[in-house]
This record gives sequence, C-alpha cells and structure tokens, in this order.
Amino acid sequence: MSRPEDSPWAVSVAQVAARAGRSRQVDADFPAPDGIGDTICGVKEGAPVHVSGSFDSIVDGLIFNGHVRAPLHAECVRCLTPISRDLDLDVVAFFPYKPPEEKYHGKEEFVVGEDEEAEEEYPLAEGGAFADLEALLRDELVDALPVKPLCRPDCKGLCPQCGINLNEHPDHHHEVTDFRWSALEEIKRKLEESPEEPGQEGGKPGR
Ligand SMILES: [Zn+2]
Ligand SMILES: [Zn+2]
Repeated sequence: MSRPEDSPWAVSVAQVAARAGRSRQVDADFPAPDGIGDTICGVKEGAPVHVSGSFDSIVDGLIFNGHVRAPLHAECVRCLTPISRDLDLDVVAFFPYKPPEEKYHGKEEFVVGEDEEAEEEYPLAEGGAFADLEALLRDELVDALPVKPLCRPDCKGLCPQCGINLNEHPDHHHEVTDFRWSALEEIKRKLEESPEEPGQEGGKPGR
C-alpha cells in the first residue's frame, strides 16, 4: 500500500499545521504529473517543475502561496517551429484541515469562498501531516497551457504558396502573376498584335 508521504509530490506540513501563524518554505523540484497537455503542446511527464513559496497556517487550513516554473514544449501555430520555454505562474491554493464535504455539511449553498477569486482547494493527507502538490500542479499547469502558442508574438508564419518560413526569409515573395494571368496576358498580347497583321482574323492564328 502506498503511503501519502511516499508520493513524490508530498510536502510535510505537520509542523505548520500544528498552530496558526506558522510558515513552511518550499523551494524544490517536483516531477511534472501526467496529463499536462499532449505531445504537441504540454509539459512532459516527469520533467522538473520548480516550486517555490510557502505554506502558511491559518485557522482552518494552510494557504500555499508560491511560484511554479515548468518546461513547456509546443509548436508555433503559424510557422510550426518547435517552441521550448518555461511556463511561469503564480499559484495560490488552500488546503483545508477539514474536507469540503464535512466543512460545509448542512449548508444550503456550497460556498467555496467569499467571492469568485477564491483559491483552489486541495485536501491534506494523513490528518494534516502532508500536502500533496500533484493535483495542484496538474490543474495549474493545464490552465496555463497556451491555446495558440507562437514562437514569437510577431511570427510571420509560412508562405501560403510554397510553405517557406517567412521569419527566416523576410523578403520572400512570389511574382503576382501566376499561370492563369499569364495565359490571359498571352491572349491579350495576341489580340493587340493582330490588327497590325492585315488579312488575319483577330487573335486566332494557326488553328
Ligand atoms: Zn512561428
Ligand atoms: Zn513562397
């Protein structure tokens, strides 16, 4: 049987939880949980996620306030260039001593917080001895994934005609006349020429 403290995301908070007003610093790497994006855009499972911040005990639980940095891999939606950079986010989460079901038992409304800015809630394990960051990291990182990742804000994308990367070839362009126009121009040219050749019907030489 796996114990909560064996989780790679477990943080011992027993000392903090013992009394309100205490604080425990966190400054460590945790493995990225699974399920954060996909192979196109996401954070690879097991990649190092740096978490820094602190657990602070208040009357009914622990508040975690911190910063999360995770390596993101993605593909630019305009030019398809692989992107690798860090996702940086500030995180606030609440770890109540009592599970929400118990805490709000008997109330008509399920009140998560005072307003819509209420932080996410996560349970503590082992009667308050451990906070597990797995669900918190997954939720926060999934939310932070870019919907339309760009290699740079002004990415010029690919040439719609030939697919060349316009960031690398800023002066790239095609002659505006393609074969359809040149065919028309050929007809136009012949029509213009024909009046100068008496005896021939306009524009239909050599049938
Ligand atoms: Zn791009
Ligand atoms: Zn082109």
